[in-house]
Amino acid sequence: MPPVLAIHGGAGTMRRTAMTPVVEASFRAGLRAALWAGHAVLASGGSALDAVTHAVMALEDDPQFNAGRGAVYTSAGWHEMDAAVMDGRNRAAGAVAGITGPRNPVLAARAVMEHSGCVLMTGEGALAFLRGQDLAWEDPEYFRTDRRWQALQRELERRRSNAADTRDDAEKHGTVGAVACDAAGNLAAATSTGGMTAKRPGRVGDSPVFGAGTWADNATCAVSCTGHGEFFIRWAASHEIAARMRHRGETLAAAAETVVAELETVGGDGGLVAVDAAGNVALPFNATGMYRGRIGADGVAWTGIYREDLRTG
Ligand code: ASP
Repeated sequence: MPPVLAIHGGAGTMRRTAMTPVVEASFRAGLRAALWAGHAVLASGGSALDAVTHAVMALEDDPQFNAGRGAVYTSAGWHEMDAAVMDGRNRAAGAVAGITGPRNPVLAARAVMEHSGCVLMTGEGALAFLRGQDLAWEDPEYFRTDRRWQALQRELERRRSNAADTRDDAEKHGTVGAVACDAAGNLAAATSTGGMTAKRPGRVGDSPVFGAGTWADNATCAVSCTGHGEFFIRWAASHEIAARMRHRGETLAAAAETVVAELETVGGDGGLVAVDAAGNVALPFNATGMYRGRIGADGVAWTGIYREDLRTG
């Protein structure tokens, strides 16, 4: 029952063999911090929109996750971040693509939604608008992590030598996202990402594309996706879940699981978090794992990484 918040820290986790207890505990602590940040908003009567914004900010600030600080690099060795936020009350939406500068790309997306008159802004034009907004900015060095830089070097070397791609999913991509249903039954979604490791400069993923990686509509559901973005765009993944609920009367769980399973059949690895206005939560994925969590009215934070982690959705 509402209020409830669900988050992901990206589909595509480290292989079990590389995941030490210390690293695992650290990921779970990062997820819990984001759950509590969002829950604090909901518990004090705040909106789903503010809750998902705060949860995603916490994940962006945590260098373990591929968004904000700790984002992956393009093949040219810089960051191009995508982020989106959508309000289920009225389908208000804002997104940025291919930017680096604002400390929290999700706040840049919110500024687009609330102050630009646009839905999606990219590159230099977006930055020019955002400079006039009340946002914290950071130098490229702030976003840099050695782990992501080394992952880029390994991938560039692999491409040069034409070797097979044996990377684990966590090295290829990641994303963070949150969905919430507040006490009034209003829904919201937010997603933020550095995209795919060594992506082509100018490439935009599914996260800032509404109906693909991000969606929120009180009449159906709020969804935030993670995975191989090109597939989520081509399959209109988040909107497809809403459409199945709206037109076929499917439950949130059935619609979400069907879409994730369909993506798997075409090679679209990934997953998503979703919530409906009754407070039902779905956390399906088809990858090795997905960093994920949920927190309900009781304030108990649940986190999961691998498939065998018990689902509490
Ligand atoms: N969906 C993101 C993108 O394609 C990456 C990810 O979620 O892993 O940019």
